[in-house]
Amino acid sequence: MRDPNISKIFEVAKAENRNFLFEHEAKMLCSLYGIPITKIEVVKTEDAAVASANRIGFPIVLKIVSPQVLHKSDAGGVIVGVNDEKGIRESYQRIISNIKNNVPTAVIDGILVQEMAPKGTEIIIGSTVDPTFGPTIMFGLGGIFVEILKDVSFRLAPITKEDAWEMLDEIKAKKILDGARGMPKADKETIVNTLLAVSKMLIECPEIKELDMNPILVYEKGARAVDARVIL
Ligand code: ADP
Ligand code: MG
Repeated sequence: MRDPNISKIFEVAKAENRNFLFEHEAKMLCSLYGIPITKIEVVKTEDAAVASANRIGFPIVLKIVSPQVLHKSDAGGVIVGVNDEKGIRESYQRIISNIKNNVPTAVIDGILVQEMAPKGTEIIIGSTVDPTFGPTIMFGLGGIFVEILKDVSFRLAPITKEDAWEMLDEIKAKKILDGARGMPKADKETIVNTLLAVSKMLIECPEIKELDMNPILVYEKGARAVDARVIL
């Protein structure tokens, strides 16, 4: 049986009549399956944002929390690389004014304060539910590789460890993961474990209609999901 904390995340969304999880909820869900995420705190005031940033440690990323803003950077709802208290206060106000201008109908639930993850190889893991075959798992490299080149691999959940390794091997740009062209190597073992964790999540959580972890930053050792979106 799945961890009751997992069910609680879905219950809160349901009670609020939401058909999606906020980023911090989606990340909590990922974390409960052992997927590494950034440190996160949701705040509702500028002072609380400063206190939270001091707890988490600089540099910081601030993001909008609003049911009407699921694509946060398009709406001016993401500011990365905030280095000090003054920056937190300015960025907090800037995000709120961006959202008021760009999405006037948006209800602002708060601001998500999170650690800024170091640069790494960007990957994407996603899922949609096939009406006949159930949940699918997609893997690709971030940026142009998925968005323009559609260089991705797919499997139906659940997957085995062997399937996960094959998914890494099936993309055309796979050499990037091995450090081609002076790029740093990416920790493939961690990617495989993340794919397996996502597979388990999809099987245990029929509530999930869509999952989009975009991007996950992968390092020579370890990885960090810096954004996660779940549609219920
Ligand atoms: P969106 O809802 O627009 O997809 P994201 O949360 O993905 O917003 O943030 C936009 C971009 O900002 C990401 O693609 C990533 O490059 C960067 N970013 C977001 N959060 C972090 C973080 N915690 N650490 C480092 N970079 C981040
Ligand atoms: Mg994103």
